[in-house]
Amino acid sequence: MSDGPTYGFDTLQIHAGARPDPATGARQTPIYQTTAYVFRDADHAAALFNLQEVGFIYSRLTNPTVAVLQERIATLEGGVGAVCCSSGHAAQIMALFPLMGPGCNVVASTRLYGGTVTQFSQTIKRFGWSAKFVDTDDLDAVKDAIDENTRAVFCESIANPGGYVTDIRAMADIADAAGIPLIVDNTSATPYLCRPIEQGATLVVHSTTKYLTGNGTVTGGCIVDSGKFDWSANDKFPSLSEPEAAYHGLKFHETFGPLAFTFHGIAIGLRDLGMTMNPQAAHYTLLGIETLSLRMQRHVENAQKIAAWLEADDRVDYVTYAGLPSSPYHDRVQAQYKKGAGALFTFAVKGGYDACVRLVNSLEIFSHVANLGDARSLIIHSASTTHRQLTPEQQEAAGAGPNVVRLSIGIEDADDLIADLDQALAKASV
Ligand SMILES: *Cc1c(COP(=O)(O)O)cnc(C)c1O
Repeated sequence: MSDGPTYGFDTLQIHAGARPDPATGARQTPIYQTTAYVFRDADHAAALFNLQEVGFIYSRLTNPTVAVLQERIATLEGGVGAVCCSSGHAAQIMALFPLMGPGCNVVASTRLYGGTVTQFSQTIKRFGWSAKFVDTDDLDAVKDAIDENTRAVFCESIANPGGYVTDIRAMADIADAAGIPLIVDNTSATPYLCRPIEQGATLVVHSTTKYLTGNGTVTGGCIVDSGKFDWSANDKFPSLSEPEAAYHGLKFHETFGPLAFTFHGIAIGLRDLGMTMNPQAAHYTLLGIETLSLRMQRHVENAQKIAAWLEADDRVDYVTYAGLPSSPYHDRVQAQYKKGAGALFTFAVKGGYDACVRLVNSLEIFSHVANLGDARSLIIHSASTTHRQLTPEQQEAAGAGPNVVRLSIGIEDADDLIADLDQALAKASV
């Protein structure tokens, strides 16, 4: 598509980044199932390897199918560039990699996807990095947690598993004042419901495994750069501001300006960490994104109906859905998440752990799986699965206590989903 008029979201989700295949005219983006690309001549090869010319060398770094997806997601998020990788967790490591070094830390929300809590509290220590977890509703606690070794603030827009919504603008202001980037995991909201860059975020990460693909077929991740951060304003980000030995002393920020983070992600991150998305995965995700807005509208509509029904039911203690007027986040949703609070929330079942287990076992339409953002409705008892590795305190802080189940509401008929929950709650509450 040309750079002409600014198109609306529904147009961009189908067209951004794609053009008819120059070789065949194929209208759908082909799956470029190739590892390598023939150089025009030796000079062309040298220019590509020196980053003097942009082009395709080897599919660990770049691939034309993946490149379309990168441009599509960057456009929908309002960023200048994006790097796709093999999973959401890979995207998180790839986002932190240029920023961190041994002794550095990231200030992260306590309310994160369980796997992220484990990655940040355990695994990144092997790199000499650490995370400090704070309640992001306590802005003073966020400010106080930032020290001279902090290199980023990390939160989710709509936070897993409770569906809590974050005040991204407030978080961005704190990160800005400290001279560090705000990274927002926008997996649960998608750019249809929330565009963190417009609220001041520097980087957006995604598990494209979820809503962007939309049908539970492939894993993938993506990092989108706003292009707005000044990596040379202080000496905290030498990977981007200082000479890079592996590219003859090239300085990424000086050379690539707003695209510095994206180029670093490909030329260093994918080259050396190798967490590459394959073209088949990019193809499935491109197909999914074409209907993102339509699906998200239905996801939200169904979630709103089902959350209200559950809240009114005697067998249920409480429902965390931020779209309900009873939610402490309701005002924030009205102000910042105008298209809705997503389709992910938890509810507490009277009868605790055992009732939750009976409920999960009795459902017929809902699938008991460790996934979210599928067209089909999903349920999980977080405390016995995704959040099992967490301490009881971490489980409570994450909103995943033993009496709570998480729903990812799909796009089926809401009445069928309610009937299914009704019959399963009857069996759970014996
Ligand atoms: C699933 C998920 C991740 C991890 O993504 P994978 O693709 O499974 O690696 C990270 N953050 C959130 C919010 C998720 O839902």
